[in-house]
Amino acid sequence: MRNILVIEDSPLVLKILEHMFRKETGFQPIFCATMDEAQVMLETSAQLFFAAIVDLNLPDAPDGEIVDVVMSYHLPCIVLSGTYNEQRRDQMLLKGVVDYVLKESQHSYEYVFRLLHRLESNSTVKILIAEDSDATRHYIRHVLTPQRFQILEACDGDEALRILNEQPDIDLLLVDHSMPGICGFDLVKLLRQKLKRHELIILGLSADTKGSLSAKFIKHGADDFLRKPFCPEELNCRVMSTLERRDLLRALKKAAQYDVLTGLNNRRSFYEHSQQLLQQARSDGRALSVAMLDLDFFKRINDEHGHASGDAALAGFSRALSSAFPSALLGRLGGEEFAMLSQQDAATLSDTLDQLRTHCAGLKYAIGAPPLSFSAGIYHGPPDDLESLLHHADRRLYQAKSQGRGRNCWQ
Ligand code: GH3
Ligand code: MG
Ligand code: MG
Ligand code: MG
Repeated sequence: MRNILVIEDSPLVLKILEHMFRKETGFQPIFCATMDEAQVMLETSAQLFFAAIVDLNLPDAPDGEIVDVVMSYHLPCIVLSGTYNEQRRDQMLLKGVVDYVLKESQHSYEYVFRLLHRLESNSTVKILIAEDSDATRHYIRHVLTPQRFQILEACDGDEALRILNEQPDIDLLLVDHSMPGICGFDLVKLLRQKLKRHELIILGLSADTKGSLSAKFIKHGADDFLRKPFCPEELNCRVMSTLERRDLLRALKKAAQYDVLTGLNNRRSFYEHSQQLLQQARSDGRALSVAMLDLDFFKRINDEHGHASGDAALAGFSRALSSAFPSALLGRLGGEEFAMLSQQDAATLSDTLDQLRTHCAGLKYAIGAPPLSFSAGIYHGPPDDLESLLHHADRRLYQAKSQGRGRNCWQ
């Protein structure tokens, strides 16, 4: 739980914020209505706060004096203001506040919470600024620092390439177009040959006034573009929105790859990953083992103990399977049917499955439910096509079922 210091005197705004904080499980607000109160709170417990949301017009501080107080404690400061003043906004952002938000509508308040969430994740986000102008580089660093990012700098394209090679965990590249050596545009083309959008976000920068450069950047793989000079707010917004888009893309990819209930690869993902393993085994001249697993009398668990118990059995079994085979490729092919691709030989695999079977028999997955049992068919052979490997394993699974269940069949 993160404590958020809210310094605000308007009863209406407080009511809205209180309502919104109630929906947020990760943030706990502590309210102060005056600068005096806030000062006492900060003097005694500034280190307990994650960030502050402050009103510029307080009874004892009518002109934004609270901002300097909060910032003197190095606390990320989000300004809430009743009036829009462009000069004031830029002045505040250059001072180092996280953002300047107008108390306008529901969206403004939702935006404040988006900012709080971003602040939480930003400390793990690495940004590389590739820009030959010292002044612009320093300006960008100055604007992004209050957002809690990890910031790196490169003075030209070649240095940027070197840093990106050394630190593949960089999330976002801000790249100027006109630089000595490789230009920003060529750098984007080069990087996009190997790094996809969910691996590296690229924001192009240029003082070009024609407008065609932005389209060129984006068509060749940049995620967005900023024309210089840009105001701090514009930079922040574009960085934040491209990061949010990237996170969404990653979440979508994850949802498409993994089965929600068990966290294992789904059928499609199992098939995709299998192709890489089969290819590797072919070029190494190795055989592979394939196993098909199916829970025994699973329908009875559903029928006699409810669907939730069935789900708990599937989740418990999958966890046990993953820890028993940490280096195998595992997948839930559907229902209560699982598949595994492993480099172990059939006898070793069968032994480990027997240990898993003993473990599953004692697994407490639902009150009063019967011991969990499964059958398995194992096939060890040359890495031909996946379908035929699965077919061989499936035939042996069928044998294991017909021989009485709760066993492996591997020869
Ligand atoms: P056998 O020992 O021959 O494998 O019998 P079984 O009862 O395990 O097999 P059957 O194919 O008859 O039943 C499988 C059941 O699994 C039927 C289906 O409703 C249930 N099922 C499939 N997916 C899920 C799921 O995601 N959650 C739950 N709770 N049940 C599921
Ligand atoms: Mg330049
Ligand atoms: Mg079954
Ligand atoms: Mg089945």
